[in-house]
Amino acid sequence: TAAQAADESMRSYWSGMGEVFRRRFQLVTQFRRAVDQGSITVQYQPKISLADRELVGVEALVRWTHPELGAVPPSEFVEAIEATGSIDLLLEHVLEIVLAQIKVWVDRGLRIAVAVNLSVRNLSAPDFPATVAAGLERHGVEASLLTLEITESSVMADPERYLPVLRQLHALGVNLSVDDFGTGYSSLAYLRRLPIDEIKIDKSFVQGMITDLGDLAIVRAIIDLGHSLGLRVVAEGVEEEAARDALKTLRCDDLQGFLVSRPQPIDKLESWMNSTMVRTRQPGGQQVLRL
Ligand code: C2E
Ligand code: MG
Ligand code: MG
Ligand code: MG
Repeated sequence: TAAQAADESMRSYWSGMGEVFRRRFQLVTQFRRAVDQGSITVQYQPKISLADRELVGVEALVRWTHPELGAVPPSEFVEAIEATGSIDLLLEHVLEIVLAQIKVWVDRGLRIAVAVNLSVRNLSAPDFPATVAAGLERHGVEASLLTLEITESSVMADPERYLPVLRQLHALGVNLSVDDFGTGYSSLAYLRRLPIDEIKIDKSFVQGMITDLGDLAIVRAIIDLGHSLGLRVVAEGVEEEAARDALKTLRCDDLQGFLVSRPQPIDKLESWMNSTMVRTRQPGGQQVLRL
């Protein structure tokens, strides 16, 4: 009967919800141990300049390989641990891995800037700029080789609150980037006041720009806005050559996406760099990698 069917569907709804909560609970309670056991690692995705195809830097993206659940997407577990103290542990752990890697490259004559994603909770930790400064110092890494990415929707939710900490970070010399740009609600007045170096156009617009004139208009507007404010503009999620060509015509600065490379573990990234990139020397004596 209809009543039985409705009953059955309620039962499966609630047991489905039970699954969701159980999984979330599991992620939250097991995160610390996963860090200790080495299950939390990072992959790196290159960022390339459109004008001269230089490797401008790489972005570190966290990965959790769970013994039973397999690969857990960061969008899922970052959100789950965000309400707990573990979000600070995640950042410390990723920063340690990244700073050590930057140092390895510098010792080999390569200056590759690495970007780390922040949760808005990280910005709220009172000693956050001091933690970053101490990490740079301990690893002997120049601040300009570290970029911190913060999403537009989080920082613009309360710009007045985050302005002081962003200024402190900027004063250290680290680069600040606004991620997923176009999906939040930027106040242009605040955007101008934030001490940022870069904005990253959200991949939804980049992926839509070839077929959707509205998305194309948004991409163009973001590039022009960024440039008027003296910022570097990065397009994320570039999968198609047509998008790359259009972005180049629009004078977007850098691109990131599967078209160039997926995020890769460090050993794969290094063999990718060795096989696809050409090393050249800059006038300053620095080595650069070029596609
Ligand atoms: P995000 O920082 O905007 O990173 C870009 C996401 O798009 C990554 O997903 C990347 O793998 C994916 N991507 C890159 N190129 C392409 C492309 O061409 N096509 C498509 N379809 N996707 C592409 P991922 O690694 O799953 O990360 C998702 C989000 O999780 C990140 O978005 C970031 O907000 C967050 N996240 C990642 N690592 C960390 C971390 O260490 N800490 C914190 N707090 N958040 C992190
Ligand atoms: Mg990012
Ligand atoms: Mg993004
Ligand atoms: Mg994103």
